[in-house]
Amino acid sequence: MIPFFDYRRQWNEHRNEILATIQRVLDSGQLILGPEVQAFEREFAAAIGAPHAIGVNSGTDALVLALRSLGIGPGDEVITVPNTAVPTLAAIRISGARPVLVDIEPDTLLMNMQELPRACTSRTKAIIPVHLHGLAVDLEELFNFARERKIAVIEDCAQSFGADYRGQAVGTFGMVGCFSFYPTKNLGAFGDGGLCTSPHEELAERLRKLRMYGFNEKAEAVIDGFNSRLDEMQAAILRFKLQHFAGHMQKRLAIAHRYLAELDRNRYRLPTLKPDRTHAFHIFAIRSSRRQLLKEKLAQRGILTGIHYARPVHLMPAYADLGYGLGDLPVAEKAAEELLSLPLFPELSEEEQSTVISSLNEVDFNETS
Ligand SMILES: *Cc1c(COP(=O)(O)O)cnc(C)c1O
Repeated sequence: MIPFFDYRRQWNEHRNEILATIQRVLDSGQLILGPEVQAFEREFAAAIGAPHAIGVNSGTDALVLALRSLGIGPGDEVITVPNTAVPTLAAIRISGARPVLVDIEPDTLLMNMQELPRACTSRTKAIIPVHLHGLAVDLEELFNFARERKIAVIEDCAQSFGADYRGQAVGTFGMVGCFSFYPTKNLGAFGDGGLCTSPHEELAERLRKLRMYGFNEKAEAVIDGFNSRLDEMQAAILRFKLQHFAGHMQKRLAIAHRYLAELDRNRYRLPTLKPDRTHAFHIFAIRSSRRQLLKEKLAQRGILTGIHYARPVHLMPAYADLGYGLGDLPVAEKAAEELLSLPLFPELSEEEQSTVISSLNEVDFNETS
């Protein structure tokens, strides 16, 4: 069986070191917002060249706190894309603002910046680009639009730790960069976790207060806050994994480039690369008009695949009241029918990669089983 993802391979490889890390935290006498979180924030910020980093409870919370820190709420509109994880839109709704959706580019599947003028109103306060699957959006085009209109950019970097745009890491372009450490992500915790980055000292201070009841140093609530903290145990595990990240990223990219070189382009549409961006390949998604049959045929051979995502968020019941219907965002809708994510994680063996490749290149769509 070739799993789509299995954290236990990394756990088994580093069992003793990770156990020692957990023991260090339990022995320390401090479980919440202590030295491990502080050190992780410092190390993460240094890794991507961000001036400030604030650990929070999840990627969803990172987005919610980012919106709140900018004073965005009821009556405001926030532009994003429909082909994202639900939390991108959920966060906008939690803030009280209204999500406004734009369609995507057919090749990269990223926010189509040409669509922004039509979506923008006097109520537009922010744009949340999603660096989907690990590829950065066209940040120059985005900022050309947002800057002159004074619209804030909040980057959804949940899938793109390790990605850059013209040599600069994602999460360092916008007012806030939002990361997730959900276990499957490129940098995954053993539980939930998230983080906000910001170039602005004042915003960073507000985010620090927001994650802890709105407290100042004297434990007085000076603004309306949340409880959204990264805990010491996850922070310590993340510090350990961050040390290994460059090696893991190298393996991830080697697998992705092997898929790109060896998968049959007459059968499948493969992910698009851009010369000015490093793809972090959180997800390697191919496109096939016979996606469901392909998924089943691979499963018969013991290869497990994923779908990111089977339904664009505007067609999900909870978002029906936004008023979008089938046909309103056709590029995203078409992609949702065709995408299939292949197994791709650092511990996937060369033999398993070969099996994935040969199975895809040889699968007979006409054969009945
Ligand atoms: C995973 C993810 C999130 C949310 O992260 P959680 O840590 O699960 O809350 C947000 N946006 C995108 C694009 C994601 O992939």
